[in-house]
Amino acid sequence: MSQRFLFPHERLPEVAETLRVEVRAFLRDELAAGSFVPGSDSWMNASPEFSRKLGRAGWLGMTWPKQYGGAERSSLERYVLTEELLSAGAPVGAHWISDRQTGPMLLRYGTEEQRMRFMPAIARGECYFAIGMSEPDAGSDLAAVRTRADRVDGGWRLTGRKVWSSFAHEAHCMIVLCRTSPKEENRHAGLSQLLVELDAPGIEMRPILNLAGHHHFNEVVFDEVFVPDTRVVGEIGDGWKQVVSELAYERSGPERFLSYYPVLASLLGPLAAQIGQTNNPTQNLADSPLTTAVGALVTQLATLRQMSLSIAGRLQAGASLEIEAAVVKDLGTRFERLLPEQARLIAASAGISLHDGEFGRLLAEAVLRAPSSTLRGGTNEILRGAIARGLGLR
Ligand SMILES: Cc1cc2nc3c(=O)[nH]c(=O)nc-3n(C[C@H](O)[C@H](O)[C@H](O)COP(=O)(O)OP(=O)(O)OC[C@H]3O[C@@H](n4cnc5c(N)ncnc54)[C@H](O)[C@@H]3O)c2cc1C
Repeated sequence: MSQRFLFPHERLPEVAETLRVEVRAFLRDELAAGSFVPGSDSWMNASPEFSRKLGRAGWLGMTWPKQYGGAERSSLERYVLTEELLSAGAPVGAHWISDRQTGPMLLRYGTEEQRMRFMPAIARGECYFAIGMSEPDAGSDLAAVRTRADRVDGGWRLTGRKVWSSFAHEAHCMIVLCRTSPKEENRHAGLSQLLVELDAPGIEMRPILNLAGHHHFNEVVFDEVFVPDTRVVGEIGDGWKQVVSELAYERSGPERFLSYYPVLASLLGPLAAQIGQTNNPTQNLADSPLTTAVGALVTQLATLRQMSLSIAGRLQAGASLEIEAAVVKDLGTRFERLLPEQARLIAASAGISLHDGEFGRLLAEAVLRAPSSTLRGGTNEILRGAIARGLGLR
C-alpha cells in the first residue's frame, strides 16, 4: 500500500530557544578561549576534551532518564543543541555515535546492567562507541555480512572483518552486526548485535587514510574474540530489526544538511564587503545576482531544516518515520554536496580568494569531505530504493 509523506509544521518550544542562547554563549566563550577551531563537517572532528565539556554542561545524553546520566530534556531541545554545535563547526565527533545512537539503542534494547555500565559514562563524555556494520563485501547490502559469532560456553566467539569504522581507534566499544546463524531464505534472519569492548584480546585495528590523508576510518579485524552473553544487545537473531529501527534517528538530523554551513557563514562577510565595494551603495543588495545565489542556498537550507524539525517533533511523539527520514537524508546530503561547489562559484565571481582566510580554509576542507555525505549512513541510491518501496512503487 502506498503512503504519503507528511511534514507538518513544527515549532520549537520556548525552552529550546532559551537553551539556544545558552549554547551560543558557551560556544562564544570556547572560541574566545581557543578551545577549538571551527571546522567543515565538524561531526567528523573528534576532541575528547570538548566532549567532556559538553558532558559537564549536561548536554550529552540530554534526553535520557536521569538514572542513566541523562537530563530528561526533550528531543527538540537536543535538536537545537545539535544545530548550534554544527553551525559553529565544533568538534563533536568523539561522542557523536554514542550520544546519537548507542544510548538510545541501549535504552530500547539493552539490559539494565548494560545501561548502568555505559550510559552514564557516555553522558559524561568519557565513553565512545564505533559502528561495526560495513564489511568489504557488505556495505549497502548489510544482510551479506560475513563476520560471524559462534556459540561457546558463556558467550560468543567473534571472527571477521569490519571496514570504514569511523573513529574506532579512539573508541572504547563497537556495536558489531554479525551472523549468529547461517543465512536462510530470509537473508535478514540470523543477524545479531554484539557490544564489543575494543581492548579485548584478538582485535587488530588497522588505519585506513581518507581522501584528505587523515586517519578517520579503520579496518577492524576480529580473530576469535570472546564476547560474553552479557554483551549481547537485544535478542540473538533480531539484529536486522534493531538496526532498521534506529534509521529514522540516524538519517533525519541536522548533520544531514548542516555539515558545511560554516562555509556559507564564512562567505557572507567577504561577500558583503565585496558587493559594498563594487556596487553603487544606494543599490539594494538584493539586486545582486550573487546575493540571489546565496538566497537560493539559504532557502534550501530553511526548507530542509523545517522538514528535519518536523520529523524530530513527530519522533518525539513516537511516530515511525524511516521513509520521511530517507527523504531528508537524500535531499539534505545532495545539498551538502552542492553547497561547497556553489560557495566556490559565488566567491570566484565576486573576486574573493578561494585560498585565504577562514573561508578559504573551510572551503578547502569541505571540498575534500563533501563526497562522503551521500555515502555515509546509507547511499542515496539505497535511500531512493527505500523511498520508492515506501510509496508502493517497487
Ligand atoms: C565518512 C564515512 C563514514 C563511515 N563510517 C562508517 C562506520 O563508522 N561504520 C560502518 O560500518 N560503516 C561506515 N561507513 C560505510 C558506509 O556506510 C558505506 O560506505 C555505505 O553503506 C556504502 O557501502 P559500500 O561502501 O560497501 O558501497 P557498495 O554497497 O559497494 O555500493 C557501491 C555503489 O553501488 C550503489 N549500489 C549498491 N547497491 C545498490 C542497489 N541495490 N541499488 C542501487 N545502487 C546500489 C551504491 O549506491 C554505491 O554508489 C562510512 C562511510 C563514509 C563515507
